[in-house]
Amino acid sequence: MDKKNLHKDTIVIHEGYDDKEHQGSLAVPLYQTSTFSFETALQGENRFSGVEGGNIYSRLGNPTVRVLEERMTALENGKGALAFGSGMAAVSTILVHLTKSGDHILCSRGIYGCTFGLLGMLNEKYNISHDLIQMKTEEEIERAITPETVCIYIETPINPTMELVDIQAVVNVAKRHGLRVVVDNTFSSPYLQNPLDFGADFVLHSATKYINGHGDVIAGLLVGADKEEMESIRMSVQKDFGGIISPFDAWLLIRGLKTLSVRMERHTSNAEKVIAYLKGQKLVEEIYYPFDKDNPQYEIAKRQMRAGGGLISFTVKGGKEGAQLFMDSLSLIKIAVSLGDAETLIQHPATMTHSVIPEAERLQMGITDSLLRLSVGLEHAEDLIADFKAAFAIMETVITERA
Ligand SMILES: *Cc1c(COP(=O)(O)O)cnc(C)c1O
Repeated sequence: MDKKNLHKDTIVIHEGYDDKEHQGSLAVPLYQTSTFSFETALQGENRFSGVEGGNIYSRLGNPTVRVLEERMTALENGKGALAFGSGMAAVSTILVHLTKSGDHILCSRGIYGCTFGLLGMLNEKYNISHDLIQMKTEEEIERAITPETVCIYIETPINPTMELVDIQAVVNVAKRHGLRVVVDNTFSSPYLQNPLDFGADFVLHSATKYINGHGDVIAGLLVGADKEEMESIRMSVQKDFGGIISPFDAWLLIRGLKTLSVRMERHTSNAEKVIAYLKGQKLVEEIYYPFDKDNPQYEIAKRQMRAGGGLISFTVKGGKEGAQLFMDSLSLIKIAVSLGDAETLIQHPATMTHSVIPEAERLQMGITDSLLRLSVGLEHAEDLIADFKAAFAIMETVITERA
């Protein structure tokens, strides 16, 4: 058969691995080694000079890691991928690659907390500035570009408000000004959204989340649209900053990735059932979910995402106190940051993931004290809804007692 144009469901299981080259081992072998021996001195010389391909030292490449990178390249419709020891190592590597002192980065308003921290550090120590803007229209993006701007860095959906940035609009403006586009695709996973298809240059993931899916690894992935550029990042920033992944973590990611398609479908269908339930609750104020027909950005969602995924944000009555009471009244659903795991997780952005952001700025981003972020897991939806029902009942009792 023709193995080009395989579906994502098949790519996550087969891409980049031939068992015939590994004694028939069905599972990808774990090459848990730091270095590789050369057969001769000349072979060592040739590998270092690049005359001959092949393994040298695991910071420069490892056969287990390579399978993961090839699988991700295919999943994101890219030309090359690099695996990292954390999502933040992927973020810092691409920003260091794209910028030099004096440059400017344009960002979506609402980016991951540590990315925000990194941008502050780049500004303070290396004079690389940034602006955060809403990016509602091409004109707004256009106006924020300065002669120093070199790249546009976005997240969509934005954490935790689930607002969308129109990837095509960002790319259109970037192309007119010769800017590079980086998209943090962690919330959608490559199963639901592929920014390179819209002309973005780089897409990155905290693989800690949906790609691994089992809550037991911290890792990152960067995929690019240019093979040579990706190899040059491997042999410069990645090699010299050294934020590589361990072979064992890559092996766990390969294992987790095999079920990405079935997991994302279940996360999505569970999320839809939870939303249908939350919509009827009088203690719930607002629900934010990109694929909700009531969402004003539903048209953008349909254009760039295949489905809504497992993340829902919503507000409950009673401000911070109400939100904390609700979380404490749950029993099956765990209070934890992170997302994309089998377990359903709930967190309070204002006091947890986004607590470092000054209050005024946080409120401007839509992160109110009553906002909760839910990462819907893979449990049976009826059990999740039963947990919600019990928590709302406890809230009702407390409210009645107080009245
Ligand atoms: C978790 C996360 C990161 C950081 O990834 P780590 O693996 O924790 O380093 C970056 N971006 C988004 C959107 C995330 O959710």
